[in-house]
Amino acid sequence: LKTEPAVSGDGRKIGLLANVELPDDSKEAAEVGAEGIGLYRTEFLYMNREEMPGEEEQLAAYRRVLRAMEGPVTIRTLDLGADKTLGQGRGQATSSNPALGLRAIRLCLKETDLFRVQLRALLRASAEGDVRVMLPMISNIQELRQTRHLIDELMTELKAQGLPFNPNLPVGAMIEVPAAALAAPLLARYADFFSLGTNDLIQYTLAMDRVDDEINYLYDPLHPAVLRLIKLTIDAGAAAGIPVAMCGEMASDRRYTRLLLGLGLTEFSMHPANILEVKRLIMQSDVAALARRVDDILTSTDALEYRELLDLSLIHI
Ligand code: PEP
Ligand code: MG
Repeated sequence: LKTEPAVSGDGRKIGLLANVELPDDSKEAAEVGAEGIGLYRTEFLYMNREEMPGEEEQLAAYRRVLRAMEGPVTIRTLDLGADKTLGQGRGQATSSNPALGLRAIRLCLKETDLFRVQLRALLRASAEGDVRVMLPMISNIQELRQTRHLIDELMTELKAQGLPFNPNLPVGAMIEVPAAALAAPLLARYADFFSLGTNDLIQYTLAMDRVDDEINYLYDPLHPAVLRLIKLTIDAGAAAGIPVAMCGEMASDRRYTRLLLGLGLTEFSMHPANILEVKRLIMQSDVAALARRVDDILTSTDALEYRELLDLSLIHI
């Protein structure tokens, strides 16, 4: 199974990539046959320390992942704030509503000195392998344009210094805010790819704090609003001709594999431990038939029937 390609029963090639948090996790990913890294969370570089990591240190970490993995390596820029804080330093909640505050791309675009160091390290790493840059918590076009502008500036700087980089470095947007999913057809013009971050997308869509145990019963990947936003994003990517992946936990849960295939998802990124189980299911699935079933379910106007159909025809088969 590790070496088999992930192809559905009706011949669709599905991408199976890994989520990693530490550079060494990529070895485990390569061992289970992941085709690349779909989400490399870089927060570990910044946590439990006083000084922020410099360009060389970051470059060394990115190189380690590139060496361990042959396929594409999607590196997410710093996603600090809300559930990911540094303790004493940056990213500490000062707002009464940190999940809606200065976090992720918002923090990076405000503290551009911090962001520049990471982007320079990413650009330099891009000379040595298939690096893709992924921006967390994008909620509008301006954030994408500003980041691209910054990257252009840094490319000029690196060129002047004689340092190599990939001039066509792909820059993608995480779709994890409902506004981004709803505006996906417009964002697609400024993004080279999308990746659905369902952990946050579900939190923001259902107005439920993902780390609040008292309301975790509201965390529902099958909520019709969530599925509609996922579908909108996948369709927008297809219309614009850019790839759409999913790197939130929903992609790693085999209960949802058939549903996601039916929604048109062609790239899944997950913890390496789940890759083989999901691959087996993909190989047993008929994507065209699943797409017809999902269409019927999403157009159902009866809430009970909606849930029952989902359970019976996609989740428990
Ligand atoms: C997500 O939000 O789904 C995601 C993949 O990112 P994180 O869990 O790191 O916020
Ligand atoms: Mg997220």
